[in-house]
Amino acid sequence: MKASKMMIATLKEAPQEAQISSHILLIRAGMIRKLVAGVYNYLPLGLRVLHKIENIIREEMDESGAQEILSSAIQPKELWEESGRWAKYGPELMRFKDRHQREFCLGPTHEEIFTDLVKNEIKSYKALPINLYQIQTKYRDELRPRFGLIRGREFIMKDAYSFDVDEKGLDVSYKNMYQTYSNIFTRLHINYQVVEADTGAIGGSESHQFMALSDIGESNIIYCDCGYAADEEKATTLDDTYKNDEEELELEEVETIDKKTIEEVANYLNVSKKDIAKAVVYSVSNKPSLFLIRGDREVNFIKVCNALNAAEHEVYLSTREEIEKYGSVEGFIGPINSKMDVYVDSELAKMKNMIVGANKTNMHIKNVNINRDFKAYKIVDLKDVSENMPCPICKKPLKKERGIEIGQIFKLKTKYSSAMSCTYLNEKGVEVPMVMGCYGIGVSRTMSAIIEQNHDENGIIWPLNVAPYHAVIIPVNYKDENQKKLADEIYETLKANKVEVILDDRDAKPGFKFKDFDLIGIPLIIVVGKRASEGIVEYKTRKENVKEEIDYNVAITRVIDKVNKEA
Ligand code: ATP
Ligand code: MG
Repeated sequence: MKASKMMIATLKEAPQEAQISSHILLIRAGMIRKLVAGVYNYLPLGLRVLHKIENIIREEMDESGAQEILSSAIQPKELWEESGRWAKYGPELMRFKDRHQREFCLGPTHEEIFTDLVKNEIKSYKALPINLYQIQTKYRDELRPRFGLIRGREFIMKDAYSFDVDEKGLDVSYKNMYQTYSNIFTRLHINYQVVEADTGAIGGSESHQFMALSDIGESNIIYCDCGYAADEEKATTLDDTYKNDEEELELEEVETIDKKTIEEVANYLNVSKKDIAKAVVYSVSNKPSLFLIRGDREVNFIKVCNALNAAEHEVYLSTREEIEKYGSVEGFIGPINSKMDVYVDSELAKMKNMIVGANKTNMHIKNVNINRDFKAYKIVDLKDVSENMPCPICKKPLKKERGIEIGQIFKLKTKYSSAMSCTYLNEKGVEVPMVMGCYGIGVSRTMSAIIEQNHDENGIIWPLNVAPYHAVIIPVNYKDENQKKLADEIYETLKANKVEVILDDRDAKPGFKFKDFDLIGIPLIIVVGKRASEGIVEYKTRKENVKEEIDYNVAITRVIDKVNKEA
């Protein structure tokens, strides 16, 4: 394409709100434009990249045996009521009514739709297993849309849903998708790590996330050289054995006037923070529950939500009134005779002679022992795991890195099929629920992740297979007859060989053109200048940025070869 006919919407500066490289570069390179918070228009160059990413995903999904369909963003409330998520999903769900007051939502994900579709179309074990996918626009009214395409309120997702006759079948489908995702992200040149993940609002049992490693990532990855890797919300550590074997001593009330924090109590009683049980109280619908963890640890909020079997938006730190209504006082909360359900972290549950709040102002109790002095409602893992804690597999210190979640796969099992009666007749003619998995890739988010991992101070460095165009020909002066003739010839030859090529025929200074295409990130660059009459051009790649003066035919061959190999 000729640059003079293209919409090249490059900018010198990005708006203030763009803080991370991919957001800044997507705007500056003229790939996207904001419509409202978290909603973007894709401009021509950006859309070409998006389509290329989609096509790589599509090829690998098709290769895996999955079949593509296309569903609507509009979803009827009734299906969400069948699954029980209409009430549960919370304010992220964009709901609306039609003129007849019928209620709908804009799909944030499509479990209900695919389950209902397969329920209606497939009746027999003979038609299973099946895996259906789509590449489609999703809507989530995110609390804080930010970072450009990384957290939008409208975004493109590839979502797939597998249906099997039993769990063994699901294992095969799940492994197949795991491998397919690995192939996709490798082809997209993403430096990624797979981690064990929490199942969150989608539900189900096993889950993995695919994380693009990046300092701007919103997820923390906990990992170890032994191969263990988990999302922060799922990560575990080896429980310390501190005070596990002590003899149980007699209870002792101690006055702790105005000593409310773990720090204050530890200093005042001249003990370690580890000796004290930290009490945190979270409520769901005005009902508080008590969470106990060793004093030097932090409680992980997602683990709390999981323990309470509640969605994140339903859980909040209890108010003073709620705590008092349940017979305790802020700063001195403890498990003995508590009216709240007491959840105890697995590590603390093994520790003897802990110090706890007495549920009375200015009082704590020493030598408290679980079972003898109070009962746990549940013993669970509540710990926030961070670096240097021991690996749960090999005990070596854990490491931590940041990642952008670009994909997640889940074993749903029969969560949706049971709720929505998505059943099949087995060989014996018995009706059984299908066993499901679901698999998402954030397509538009992946576009940002590629930029985060592939850019420099001058702009984007697209891998050849997702670049908006493979090559650009930049004549230093297109009005010069020799340069024009040679540039045109190279252009026509490359086009004839299926190279996606831009000819910068604009009447502008060469420096201006170079800057534009460095910013846009076109991988292969041929500059036609002074030596055009000798058939000599300058060739370079955006990535290596090393100029070479070579015969134009050699440059043409190099470009064609590279495109054949890498694009
Ligand atoms: P997050 O934890 O980042 O909010 P999620 O776990 O809620 O994401 P999933 O339900 O697993 O997201 O959706 C599948 C994929 O869709 C995610 O792995 C992510 O890549 C992408 N995605 C989710 N939310 C957004 C968003 N608001 N904007 C862009 N992509 C998103
Ligand atoms: Mg996810």
